Amino acid sequence: VKRLTRVRHILIDLDGTLLGARDLPLTLDFLKQTITALKVHGGWFRAMRAIRRVKSELQAPPKRIQGEARTTNEFRAVEIFSRAIGLPAAQAAEVLKKTVPSIFPSLQRHFFPMAQAHDFLDWAEVEFGRRGLTLATNPVWPLELVKMRMAWADIDPERFGYITHAGVMHSTKPHLEYYEEILEQLKLKPEECCLIGNDVKMDLPATRAGIPVFIVTAGRKDLEMLKSVKSCAPAWKGSFPAIRQALESVR
Ligand SMILES: [Mg+2]
Repeated sequence: VKRLTRVRHILIDLDGTLLGARDLPLTLDFLKQTITALKVHGGWFRAMRAIRRVKSELQAPPKRIQGEARTTNEFRAVEIFSRAIGLPAAQAAEVLKKTVPSIFPSLQRHFFPMAQAHDFLDWAEVEFGRRGLTLATNPVWPLELVKMRMAWADIDPERFGYITHAGVMHSTKPHLEYYEEILEQLKLKPEECCLIGNDVKMDLPATRAGIPVFIVTAGRKDLEMLKSVKSCAPAWKGSFPAIRQALESVR
């Protein structure tokens, strides 16, 4: 915990950390609705394939192309979708812009706020200030849809100084590039922040960028150190109150 003395900025994940979801019904409902809406463009099979491609290619490791301007996740999604559904990019962008926001609000019933998340945020806001709080959600959705999910968790987006979303980020979790880009955008050294998330696969790799990580596990009272690789920042798992206690102890 001594390695947290320089932390002055909290990066916090949204899905599964501040906002819970019943994953299977959510996925099935989302697929059913998107396929229904998109099947006019070449049938349900092509629609399903397009959705799957956007999901998998957007999450793929970013290609490092030297000298070429990087593409935001939002544009990458349009490109992938355009190719998979067989529509010109401008038209594909229109279709996505119309379809996804029309489906999203009906998915609210699959989501629920996470216990203890509010108490933690209240504390963090006082301790680190608005500018010391970043919503580090996997940036696959545009800002309006991130804000919609924040509302479902009963969290005011204004509480955060920065939000990572598809319009400003160029890669996704769990890639090193995503975490390095946050540091670059916020002008922070890795040891000056810590990431709080729920997912070992998606959030833990932030340690490779040098960012200490807390994995939130409901119920677990004491903080437990996770086995870490030598070259990486430390990581722990524990409840929100335990994480708060650890951060308080070094301030
Ligand atoms: Mg998560």
